Amino acid sequence: IFYNNMKLSNLNLITLKNKPSDAEIVSHQLMLRSGMIKKLASGLYTWMPLGYKVLKKIEIIIAKEMDKIGCLRITMPAVQPKELWEESSRWDKYGKELLRINDRHEREFCFGPTHEEVVTDIIRRDIKSYKQLPITLYQIQTKFRDEIRPRFGVMRAREFLMKDAYSFHSTNECLNDFYKIMYESYKNILNYIGLEYKVVSASSGQIGGDESHEFHVIADSGEDELVFSKNSDFAVNAEILKEEKNEEFIYKRGIEVGHIFKLGSKYSDALKAKITNQDNNNISIIMGCYGIGVSRMVAASIEQCNDERGIIWPKAIAPYDVAIVPVGYNKNEKIKSFADSIYKKLIENNIQPLLDDRDISAGAIFSDNDLIGTPIQIIIGKKFLDGNEVEIKDRSTNEYIPVSSQSCMETVLKML
Ligand code: ATP
Ligand code: MG
Repeated sequence: IFYNNMKLSNLNLITLKNKPSDAEIVSHQLMLRSGMIKKLASGLYTWMPLGYKVLKKIEIIIAKEMDKIGCLRITMPAVQPKELWEESSRWDKYGKELLRINDRHEREFCFGPTHEEVVTDIIRRDIKSYKQLPITLYQIQTKFRDEIRPRFGVMRAREFLMKDAYSFHSTNECLNDFYKIMYESYKNILNYIGLEYKVVSASSGQIGGDESHEFHVIADSGEDELVFSKNSDFAVNAEILKEEKNEEFIYKRGIEVGHIFKLGSKYSDALKAKITNQDNNNISIIMGCYGIGVSRMVAASIEQCNDERGIIWPKAIAPYDVAIVPVGYNKNEKIKSFADSIYKKLIENNIQPLLDDRDISAGAIFSDNDLIGTPIQIIIGKKFLDGNEVEIKDRSTNEYIPVSSQSCMETVLKML
């Protein structure tokens, strides 16, 4: 799905010069300005081609990591019947965040904000013995939470994309072991994307359970305050800090992108999901659940990786790998044919180019490409006409490397 629409004139891209008045934080501004998303209504966004590519890349990174540790991918209905939520008592407890809907027969449903009930129902029908465990199911799917204050664009939306995984075990040891594996897997995902992050102990909120950790992308605009000790591994979300503030502590702000929980038997007790264990006793299945905000990760990445010109994509999730930026593509045959040859060679090397073939001013081409934030730009302009020289721009430093047109490909391949 990635090898199409690699010419900017086909993208129908409409960029904005100025920051939109209703966007408070930089990621929201840049996502709107670069045409990644469009607002439909409060907390509801369309992902336009550029944004959708990034969303899909993050989705694939996460799915690969889940598959690697043996999770099974499924997809559950977004709409869930009231009766299941009554079994867990959350129909009443969840409050106004739960979007409730009626069908034509006046049966009540909700649009799922999370899927513990549905997945526990699947497991209680199929799993009867410890011999069938452990098992972990996951999905990447649209959630709806009627947030009291949707804001910051897709950062705190009402409709958003989440990866949610649920593990089922016959012993606490097994849950504890798998929790560690998942914990490492979340770190792998964030390391692979290349973001600065912190893991903290957290409260388990609406979901409930015993122990939980949050994964935060560090950013000043983050909604959460994180507390670390200078002298130990102590790291918590400030909302659960019991001690007085003291000088040993370091404070940072973070954006919660992931949250993992040891649920224990909270849902399996309520929904009577039981198995016979090794000692032939009838016990409730022991559960864990593990969420990542896929769409929030896009915004969090931008929040951490930007400058005054626009987005600076981490290479792993950039919508395109290399921008080809010719000045005069439609006016000069020599420039056009060189740009086209680089375009072709990059594709042959499995690299996704974005060729700016638009007939607009050089200034607009440069500012749009900086705004879009492709990690590497190949600028083909006057120096190419005069002396066969092109400039390779590293968007993370905004430095230009002059190279001969013959060694252009070689230099770009090395930088990737
Ligand atoms: P928050 O504290 O930010 O409201 P949460 O603790 O309610 O989030 P979880 O139930 O742990 O969220 O959901 C798992 C992940 O889903 C979160 O870590 C976050 O990345 C993402 N997420 C939750 N709510 C939203 C939202 N309104 N918009 C976008 N992503 C969200
Ligand atoms: Mg959370």
